[in-house]
Parts: sequence; C-alpha cells; structure tokens
Amino acid sequence: MTNISALQQYFVDNFPKEIVKIQEPMSKHTSFRIGAEAEVMVFPQNAATLSEILKQSAILDCKVHILGAGTNVLAPDEGLPGLVICLKDCLVGKRHLDDTRIEVMAGETMTKAAVYAAGLGLSGMEFAHGIPGTVGGGVFMNAGAYGGEVCQILECVDVMDRKGNLRTMTADEMQFSYRRSVLEDTGDIVISAVFKLAKKDSEEIRATMKELMAKRSASQPLDLPSAGSAFKRPVGGYAAALIDQAGLKGFQIGGAAISTKHAGFAVNLGGATAGDVRNLLSAVSDRVYEKFAIRLEPEVRIW
Ligand SMILES: Cc1cc2nc3c(=O)[nH]c(=O)nc-3n(C[C@H](O)[C@H](O)[C@H](O)COP(=O)(O)OP(=O)(O)OC[C@H]3O[C@@H](n4cnc5c(N)ncnc54)[C@H](O)[C@@H]3O)c2cc1C
Repeated sequence: MTNISALQQYFVDNFPKEIVKIQEPMSKHTSFRIGAEAEVMVFPQNAATLSEILKQSAILDCKVHILGAGTNVLAPDEGLPGLVICLKDCLVGKRHLDDTRIEVMAGETMTKAAVYAAGLGLSGMEFAHGIPGTVGGGVFMNAGAYGGEVCQILECVDVMDRKGNLRTMTADEMQFSYRRSVLEDTGDIVISAVFKLAKKDSEEIRATMKELMAKRSASQPLDLPSAGSAFKRPVGGYAAALIDQAGLKGFQIGGAAISTKHAGFAVNLGGATAGDVRNLLSAVSDRVYEKFAIRLEPEVRIW
C-alpha cells in the first residue's frame, strides 16, 4: 500500500496483523451501513491488549473511538482520522457467578447474553433479547425496551480508563438516566458487566422473549438498515407519535427516510450518506418543533 500514514505504520509494525485493519470502511461495522474509512481499526482480543493499545494511543496522541456493534452510531462520510477500537466479538465470554448473577464481557451481544440467562433459568434480560448491540454499548447507552432497562439489572461493571487502567464501578456510580450513563462524560470503556437476575422457568423466559421479538418484527422496519430509534423520547411525548402526527412518515432526504412502518426509525433506503441522515434528522426535528414546540434530540451517536 502506498501513502500509509504514520499512525497506520505504527499499528502495522507493533500489533499482530490479525487485529489491525487500515482504511477500514465504517459502513461494514455500522447497522446504518454508512460511513467512510477509519484510518486504523483494531480488534483487541482481551483486556490486556486493549490496555496496551490505549497506552500507545495516548503516547501517539491520536483520536480514539470505541465501537461495539455499531447499532447506534452514524459514522461520517469524510472518514475517521485516528483509531477505532472495535470490541464486538473481541472481548467475549459469559460466566454464571452464583444462583442469580451472571458476568458478561462487553463484546457479547445483548441477545446472546439474554439467551445465556434464559438457559440458566434467570429472568430479567428478556427485554434485551432483540436489542442488536453489544453488552458494552448497552451499558454505555443504558439500553432498554418494553419496560426493561440495563440499569434495572446491572450490579457492577468493570471499566478501563483511557490510560488502560481497570476498575470496578457500582450501578450507582454509573449515574444512569434515560439512554445515558456517566461513561459519556468519563470516556471509560466497559470491559464486562455483572447482571443480577431472578430465578424463573427457562421455558417461560423464552416464551416472553419470543413474544417481544414478534412485537418488534411487527412494528419495526427490521428489513432496512437503521440505528433503531433515531430520537430520544422527549419529555411529555413519544418521538414516533410526534413525527407521525407531523405527517413525516416516508419523508425522505437523499437515500435516508423516516420509515413508513415506524415513524421513530430513520432508515437507509440504499446509498444514504451520513449527510442525508443528519439533514433528515434536523429537518424532522424542526418540523416537529414548529408543530408541537417540542425539540427532538437524536438518540443515535453522530460521529
Ligand atoms: C433495529 C434496531 C433496534 C434497536 N432497538 C433498540 C431498543 O429496543 N432499545 C435500545 O435501547 N436501543 C435499541 N437500538 C439501538 C442500539 O442497539 C443500542 O443503543 C445499543 O445499546 C448500542 O450498542 P452497540 O454495541 O451497537 O453500540 P455502538 O453503536 O457501537 O456504540 C454506541 C455508543 O456506545 C459506545 N460504546 C460502545 N461499546 C462501548 C464500550 N464497551 N464501552 C464504552 N462505550 C461503548 C460507543 O462509543 C458509542 O458512543 C436498536 C438499534 C437497531 C439497529
């Protein structure tokens, strides 16, 4: 390859080639299927390697993004300078700690964690079964659905700071609120999480998960690339209902549109750019504000 950057050269020279990709399209790693190349993407297989990568990045003073399954990220059309550390399918593993508690590594999907808990006859993660992100992303976002939320079941979490140091945080220290945790301010990275669940019959748990999945498939445009709910739930209303009442179902800018099936979803109809999605979200937010004087804020993380 010609014109390799100093950062790319550094990672190629100092880390195993299996875990380093240069000029890696973000569209391959985001559920929107949008985003130009990351300068360097790394896939650390364990916490020790992640720590080493973070220490070197601090010395090199490069911008670092943490990526889970990319199901709540809008990556830019211009490409991402610096480093993207992808944890999905990297930091993996699940442990049954005792009667009611499991520990799950950050790179496992929420779905796999929920299926594991169900197999052990542990209830509490049914809501998480259809959330397509990782446990790390779910903890960072305080992901939730159908009345359940990560904050209701999380006991503690091992995090790593940007200098590569590990520590354990309690659920209280996470300062959870709607689709938010303190990690947004600290930049700490989820390594693993301990969930406190309740004993229940496995078949009953599986039946609930199946029912919730059927609700999801019936109401959400799962056949099109998206990042789930495009907007946070505003105080005093539901984003999808407001968008629908503003007559914006099907509203389209470039390749991005408000789903005709679920007004809370922005979907990529094919070839959408990050610019299309940003313009769509901003136009929808303005139109809803004009009609209802309620300002919708994006839930999707715009990089
Ligand atoms: C079809 C569809 C349905 C969805 N349904 C739901 C739903 O019902 N409920 C819901 O809450 N969400 C839903 N989402 C959104 C999304 O799945 C969640 O927000 C999920 O928690 C994001 O996890 P992720 O691993 O994909 O994170 P990413 O999208 O990769 O990242 C999201 C944010 O988390 C940060 N992050 C990721 N991993 C870590 C880590 N280990 N440590 C620290 N920070 C990290 C990233 O830096 C980024 O800021 C849906 C998305 C889709 C596409």
